[in-house]
Amino acid sequence: MNRKSEILIALAGNPNSGKTSIFNGLTGSHQKVANFPGVTVEKRVGQKNRDGYHITFVDLPGTYSLTAYSLDEKIARDFIVNESPDLIINVIDSGNLERSLYLTMQLMEMGVDIVIDLNMWDEASEAGIEIDTAKMSKLLGAPIVKTIGNRAQGLNSLMNAAIALYEDRHDAHRHPPVSYGSQLDDIVTSLTDSVKACPMNCRGCRNARWMAIKLLEGDIEIARQCMTDNEASAKLREKLDESVDHLRATTDQDPEIVITEGRYGYVAGIVREVMKRPKVDRMRQSNLVDNFLTHKILGYPVFILLIWLIFQATFKMGHYPMEWIDTAVAIIQDGVTSALPAGVFTDLVVDGIIGGVGSVIIFLPNIVILFLGIALLEDSGYMARAAFLMDRLMHYMGLQGKSFIPMIMGFGCTVPAIMSTRTLESQRDRILTILLLPFMSCSARLPVYILFAGAFFGKSAGNVIFSIYILGIIVAVIVGQLFKNTILRSEDIPFVMELPPYRWPTGRSVLIHMWERTKIYLRKMGGVILIASIILWFLGYFPKRSEYTQDYDAQIVQLSQMDTEKAADRISELEGLKAAEDLEYTMIGRLSVVVGPAVSPLGFNWQMGVSLLTGFVAKEVVISSMGVLYQLGADQDEQSDNLVAVLKDPKSGVTPLSAYAFMVFILLYTPCIVAVIAIKREAGAKWMWFSIFFQTILAWVAAFIVFQGGSILGL
Ligand code: GDP
Ligand code: MG
Repeated sequence: MNRKSEILIALAGNPNSGKTSIFNGLTGSHQKVANFPGVTVEKRVGQKNRDGYHITFVDLPGTYSLTAYSLDEKIARDFIVNESPDLIINVIDSGNLERSLYLTMQLMEMGVDIVIDLNMWDEASEAGIEIDTAKMSKLLGAPIVKTIGNRAQGLNSLMNAAIALYEDRHDAHRHPPVSYGSQLDDIVTSLTDSVKACPMNCRGCRNARWMAIKLLEGDIEIARQCMTDNEASAKLREKLDESVDHLRATTDQDPEIVITEGRYGYVAGIVREVMKRPKVDRMRQSNLVDNFLTHKILGYPVFILLIWLIFQATFKMGHYPMEWIDTAVAIIQDGVTSALPAGVFTDLVVDGIIGGVGSVIIFLPNIVILFLGIALLEDSGYMARAAFLMDRLMHYMGLQGKSFIPMIMGFGCTVPAIMSTRTLESQRDRILTILLLPFMSCSARLPVYILFAGAFFGKSAGNVIFSIYILGIIVAVIVGQLFKNTILRSEDIPFVMELPPYRWPTGRSVLIHMWERTKIYLRKMGGVILIASIILWFLGYFPKRSEYTQDYDAQIVQLSQMDTEKAADRISELEGLKAAEDLEYTMIGRLSVVVGPAVSPLGFNWQMGVSLLTGFVAKEVVISSMGVLYQLGADQDEQSDNLVAVLKDPKSGVTPLSAYAFMVFILLYTPCIVAVIAIKREAGAKWMWFSIFFQTILAWVAAFIVFQGGSILGL
């Protein structure tokens, strides 16, 4: 046999059927898995060697069908049509056989080789569902394997079946035509002949029957592909119109509906043949809990309580490891200071690098705990309930409940959340969701809240942070209302949120989530945060002043001979003045003259202002910037103080009120440069600029209201 040793395998299936779990198990990747639909919106690629083959796996977005209505469906379909994978592993939620097979039918129509993966076999057997896999395999002409994706069980058999099919060793293998009932079948057959007569040179056009079905369904893409300007095309068009008219006349319905019903009929037939279901539904248990968790009134306090608990935990539990890291950073800083000779390089390492990166790394434990909380809510299936609950609120914002999924993802990171808007069908919904997403406070902003709330609000810090998150949601609702009635008008679309069953999150999957987060955070630390700190330090160190308003050095030398307490005080005062004059002369000093007045109505000092500017790059940079900036102006004995102590010092001019205003500003303005790029890619440059200006102005105004309003009230 002369076979190529490269195999391309695509994983296709309904959303939430466990594709990504299977993909991760097969390839050893750590892609995001969550118990609600719509997480994987782009295809992911992974590799594995086995039995002498080099196998490439592609995890496609979950779809119920292969029409090209939404972006994620289009991605899945284009991949199958254009890249023609050697095999498709069709991942099926065994407990939802009927719905899953609808997609299987369409894969069969396309004539691709499929291996059927009956995933979630544990849940199906627990629920007492029996599936006659031998019979099903014969009926569908495809090998069938049972797996439990989240525990990586059955993957070996799955791979064996796939390779056997690839090598053509599977005995049941054939491509049975999907039947839609005699009337439709005849039409499809004759239209298929006309398609075959058409000279076509597009990829994926090999399967004439599939194209005929798609043409009947009124699929514009396929029509565009095969209707060129020639005689055969004209004939095909004529034939198509004739067939459609005929179908309309005989069935009194659109062909699309007739075909859909035909498919469902076929699926129902198969299910009746192969599956036995006990009287008790597997969703019953879930239903009992759901009556409570999605209750019209009780559901909301439960939701708020859960979120509140997460932020309490984030703050309180994160406190101890945070102190350890803080101590470690201080020890390193001291060690480096005494080990290296005094000079520019040492200043750079101690103040620039360790001062910047060190001030951010402290917050790693908080981030990890936040993600633990989110992972638990996502994996258990609670988030899908929350989406259901939020449907009303979302409508009020001019969105559908489906937009809640990107919103929830936004609490982790805005960038994948922006990507996940691809599951939304209407472009207008996507844009509105993308514009509101940044108000869902992303995890990168958490360190800033923890720093300021921890410094100024003591025991109630957890509550203060919680209030910021809630404020973000409130602002999103108000802005949504505003946009809905002005620049992005539309009708409300009704939406059905599918509720997956509750599942116990596995330790493995939760650990993977947390480890992934940690890695991303550390990588940011060694990348953008490090670079930003160094640049900022340079800007704050150069140019060097050679003349001062008074001769500090001479005065200091003189005073140091006096050796009284008064003289020592005067010395440190002079050193402070000198450092301030130094700073004033540097690039940062000149910048602060511009930035300072712009933020002083908000109660911020110039260090905060400059940090907000660098914060456009990433929100962690706000903290590393302050770490660097405060080191610059400080004299020797202040340098060892951590940021909390420096901020609390009355000299800094920060009050609880201005700290809160600062958090509000952080919450509302542009999340980071990567998010901005994502907005441009998904919504276009126009909306990107709109989002940047709108958010920044909004942040300024809101912080102004908080600070000035609070001052008037005497807070
Ligand atoms: P995808 O949307 O198709 O990519 O599905 P995911 O891989 O994200 O999985 C959806 C949810 O089902 C996650 O909570 C998984 O942990 C869980 N899951 C995946 N496979 C199985 C399985 O075989 N049994 C059970 N009980 N849960 C599973
Ligand atoms: Mg997935």
